[in-house]
Amino acid sequence: MGILLRFVLLLLLVMLVLRALWRVVAGVIDGATLPQGGRGGSPERGVQMVRDPVCGTFLPPSNAVSLTERGGEVRYFCSEKCREAYKARA
Ligand SMILES: [Zn+2]
Repeated sequence: MGILLRFVLLLLLVMLVLRALWRVVAGVIDGATLPQGGRGGSPERGVQMVRDPVCGTFLPPSNAVSLTERGGEVRYFCSEKCREAYKARA
């Protein structure tokens, strides 16, 4: 009986250690997958948005109407209408 009790206790100990180890492994997997998800989302967020100074709309430069000012600075607008309004105001 004494040997059986020791065996059961040893088995329980091994199960506890394995469970603890599994938590560590699961934590490492979670830690490794989270930054990858962040990297996957960053290219979309990395698209540089420009602001229309007339109406305040944010839009990607590829969809914007541009205006190069005398100083060489480029302004972006959501439409020709806003560009004309900016020119009239300046
Ligand atoms: Zn606009």
